[in-house]
Amino acid sequence: MEINRLIEGTLALSREIFGSDFIPLHRPVFEGNERQYLINCIDSNFVSSVGVKVTEFEEKVAKFTGAKYAVATVNGTAALHVAIELAGVKPGDEIISQAVTFIATCNAISYAGAEPLFVDVDVDTMGLSPVALKRFLEENAEKRTSGTFNKTSGKKISACIPMHTFGFPCRIAEIAEICADWDIALIEDAAESLGSYVGSCHTGTFASMATLSFNGNKVITTGGGGMIITNDSELAKRAKYITTTAKVPHPYEFVHDQIGYNYRMPNLNAALGCAQMERLEEFLTIKTQLADQWDAFFSKRGADFVKAIEGNKANHWLNTIILDSREDRDKFLKITNDNDIMTRPIWTLMSKLPMFKDCQTDGLENSIWLEDRVVNIPSSIPDGALKKLSN
Ligand SMILES: *Cc1c(COP(=O)(O)O)cnc(C)c1O
Repeated sequence: MEINRLIEGTLALSREIFGSDFIPLHRPVFEGNERQYLINCIDSNFVSSVGVKVTEFEEKVAKFTGAKYAVATVNGTAALHVAIELAGVKPGDEIISQAVTFIATCNAISYAGAEPLFVDVDVDTMGLSPVALKRFLEENAEKRTSGTFNKTSGKKISACIPMHTFGFPCRIAEIAEICADWDIALIEDAAESLGSYVGSCHTGTFASMATLSFNGNKVITTGGGGMIITNDSELAKRAKYITTTAKVPHPYEFVHDQIGYNYRMPNLNAALGCAQMERLEEFLTIKTQLADQWDAFFSKRGADFVKAIEGNKANHWLNTIILDSREDRDKFLKITNDNDIMTRPIWTLMSKLPMFKDCQTDGLENSIWLEDRVVNIPSSIPDGALKKLSN
């Protein structure tokens, strides 16, 4: 693959698809009932933490994902924080996760007083590797009656949080089996994978809890927002309770019986979410078409355009290529961004950040390999594409 020609072609195709202005990596689209629902919300006076749109939004996402329950939160990080607490993680515990993730995953682990352990990802999914997970546990952990413990640190490994990177599902069914064998709670960070499936099952439905994000750059947005989805009615009830200050229901008295959080999604944000959910299927259709277009372009040039593994379906949140080297990656990023076409490298590995640099890892061979090569390319819904689709 000749990098200069690949870059030139990417610039040209980006302009062809997205036009001559600055091209963002992923912009939100508000072409449905967003304005109307927001106005209704303001007119009703219910703009804050009480209102019918929150419940409606929760029901819509639950129905779409096939989860029985959904609890909306202020953002995805808050959803993760609460899910970690509800999974029974205690301060001083350890949680297995990926070094290939957005900082939110590790921040939430830290808020709960726990520490991450970084296990390698698979190169094809860029998500937690079940083979690496199994090996890590066999080499480093021991099962006792009270759970699984890290033989080196002596700490309890109480949870595992894999992440579906850029919307490509990881091998979550295999991971779930391993976690069950080792008696480790599983939480899916599905922040990036609304609309992604493993077989016919939506990502986020393989664990006792999963979390979503509706930040401005995600597949759908509520401005800022997140959600916990679960099939467990008790967990759903407790999630709602501690995200709404743990207030004991009463017509007028203020009684709270544990430390709770003010993590509930405001009605205004949920109103936006309801309108976005109405368009989600169309967003996904267009994003698939866009991914196919990029795929045809890169495949023809022998470049590695990432796709979901056999049997899975990606939401194509962020289109992703894997270049040959760090040098190629740097060149690609520099020239595209200099040309007002936004491209981004994958995150700096969590294990390299000052807060997490001393956390135990398994060597992270694939993670390091990917960090040197992965680039995200423009992935927005192109102007006019929604109108064209509905005509
Ligand atoms: C977006 C995201 C989150 C949640 O982020 P918020 O901005 O708090 O909604 C969590 N994990 C990953 C991997 C994400 O990409």
